[in-house]
Amino acid sequence: MSTSVIIPAAGFGERMGAAIGKQFLSLAGKPIIVHTIEQFQRSAAIDEIVIAAREESFATLRTIIDGFGLTKVRPLVKGGVRRQDSVANALAALDTGCDIVLVHDAVRPFISQETIAQAVDAARFFGAAIVAVRAKDTIKQAGTDGRVERTLDRSFLWNVQTPQAFQLSVLRDAYARAASDGVAATDDSSLVERIGIAPVIVEGSYDNIKITTPEDLLLGELLAKQYA
Ligand code: C5P
Repeated sequence: MSTSVIIPAAGFGERMGAAIGKQFLSLAGKPIIVHTIEQFQRSAAIDEIVIAAREESFATLRTIIDGFGLTKVRPLVKGGVRRQDSVANALAALDTGCDIVLVHDAVRPFISQETIAQAVDAARFFGAAIVAVRAKDTIKQAGTDGRVERTLDRSFLWNVQTPQAFQLSVLRDAYARAASDGVAATDDSSLVERIGIAPVIVEGSYDNIKITTPEDLLLGELLAKQYA
């Protein structure tokens, strides 16, 4: 049996304000997506990498994949309108021998080898696992009028990242149910939670940032030195 990672990379990156998708912006001399793929290429816990991208990016991606020797990457899959659609397309394309699947954002290049391995092990054992860090800030819930309604107890709060890792059958069931119920979610775990499975938390690192805005690129340049 094998372990696959799906990398949804079909976003436009509107919040970055750049002309190309943020996954193709350069960080420490390489496109962000190369840093991300290289962590999984290097991981002994990962057998194949499936990337969902917009068709107009296919040629660029193929050049990158060949140029950087990213041999675990399988034929590219077409992305969809939402991240969820991109993941669904990649799920349909997985190797038949796959039993564990991870989903990891293309724009989180600083994922450690240790966290990847822990997420895979936890998914194998518990069925579903998500990487997260403890909330540093106090988090409040507010109404549409901008007034605080309540203060949440920080000791129970986590900032959720990727990878999120699942037994393949669990994620496929969750996606099938979401499609038939017309449900949209911003992460894969939410879809699994709503079919009655509680993913286990793997405590990750604050380095595993999602590069979203121009400030993140500045921080990324510093972090890239550690992960090279
Ligand atoms: O937009 P956001 O930052 O949430 O995107 C997270 C990841 O999902 C990115 O790697 C992005 O390329 C991907 N994505 C996708 N298909 C979409 C939208 C986002 O693969 N339609």
